[in-house]
Amino acid sequence: MRIDIITVLPELLESPLGHSIIQRAQKKGLVEINLHPLRNFTHDKRKTVDDYAFGPDAGMVLKIEPIFEAIETLKSEREYDEIIYTSPDGEPMTQNLANQLSTKKNVLILCGHYKGIDHRVREHLITREISIGDYVLSGGELAAAIIVDSVVRLIPGVLSDETSALTDSFQDGLLAPPVYTRPAEFNGWKVPDILLSGNFKEIEKWQLEQAIERTKKLRPGLLDEER
Ligand code: SAH
Repeated sequence: MRIDIITVLPELLESPLGHSIIQRAQKKGLVEINLHPLRNFTHDKRKTVDDYAFGPDAGMVLKIEPIFEAIETLKSEREYDEIIYTSPDGEPMTQNLANQLSTKKNVLILCGHYKGIDHRVREHLITREISIGDYVLSGGELAAAIIVDSVVRLIPGVLSDETSALTDSFQDGLLAPPVYTRPAEFNGWKVPDILLSGNFKEIEKWQLEQAIERTKKLRPGLLDEER
């Protein structure tokens, strides 16, 4: 999979995408992530990417020309399955959407900033708009990092134990069961006996029961959702 990200602040993405599982996925060649500074697509001396919004409201808006040039340049090099804009009014980011995106070949993500981007970009160039939650960030970079993280870990071969993503929360419409590690007793607090029994069948049964119980208690709505 290849992911291109257009941003005014590539520095904000370098660290989240440069460590741990995502870094290993890139080293293994399972994903290629490229950051494209929007200023590279400007032609004035000051490398202007923003301008005042039309209308009475204060605030700067990312200009259409550099964004258009960035997207068109990248599109001329390859075909994109999705051109995503991160936006608080987009469709909610979910595990289901992460699964869908993890099967794509080329994905382009555009991060907004300030008051947002010139709406014509959204009308004519974007294929999908994604929100990471009902709150407003200063820029789309952290949202892009979250989207990329949730997607990349689902690409086959990225996680060392391939099955581990399958038992994560939301993957099967349930929250994950609790997990424990050694020591089996700490401060008088014990790990459930069943987990020490060595009986994998019974353990799996217990895990499913726990997952259902926790979902009923913490996120009952998940049980009604269509999958
Ligand atoms: N004026 C806009 C918010 C702009 S915030 C509004 O009220 O809808 C600046 C940028 O941060 C946005 O362009 C978007 O790319 C990003 N952003 C902010 N909140 C986000 C969220 N919840 N999900 C995804 N991207 C978000």
